[in-house]
Amino acid sequence: MPEQPTTQARLVLATRNAGKLRELRALLRGKVPGLDVDTQVVDAAAAGAPDVVESGTTFEENALLKARAVAEATGLPAVADDSGLAVDVLGGAPGIFSARWAGRHGDDSANLELLLNQLADIPENRRAAQFVCAAALAVPGGTEVVKRGELRGSLLTEPRGDGGFGYDPLLQPEGMDRSCAELSPEEKNAISHRARAFADLLPELIDVLR
Ligand code: IMP
Repeated sequence: MPEQPTTQARLVLATRNAGKLRELRALLRGKVPGLDVDTQVVDAAAAGAPDVVESGTTFEENALLKARAVAEATGLPAVADDSGLAVDVLGGAPGIFSARWAGRHGDDSANLELLLNQLADIPENRRAAQFVCAAALAVPGGTEVVKRGELRGSLLTEPRGDGGFGYDPLLQPEGMDRSCAELSPEEKNAISHRARAFADLLPELIDVLR
């Protein structure tokens, strides 16, 4: 039996990723009068929401699919995100397939190695790429909004840095001389595609929770 949403919950984050729940709570803390982010913003598991198949073909579509399904299942406003890496010379791939580019979902080092091999002959000045995030809000029977955030940069020829996750060791943001994996969490959160998408969504979120 899935756990039922507590009567206190006011917003569900359609993820099972503890890091994303922490990020959203941090973004909302102190922004909505009367909202206690630690008890009233909960994740999909705590709200008893089912896993959602990401059958869309764009980041926006997948984020909306997840937010809508979780809002319907819980009767609460829901927020979801979908993100990935888009490489110019690959026409935007890996894109929505970023998490399983090498075949197995979430195998970060295999994904990174495959991408490096694919780009082996591409010179430094033609390795532009960006992290992309779509963040969606769905209210049961009401509002649906989706916002997009991007972090543009260029792909290094070998991984650098131990921080972050996924393709972080390969992407050097525009105007920086370090990879995302060499930035502190605070530095990355200040410029990241996820932070930008969620910041854009904030006014609607505040409206819905007010
Ligand atoms: P999802 O949005 O959790 O499905 O993430 C999709 C995939 O995109 C991740 O598994 C990573 O491979 C990649 N990705 C998304 N955001 C980032 C990031 O900030 N750094 C590195 N890789 C990322």
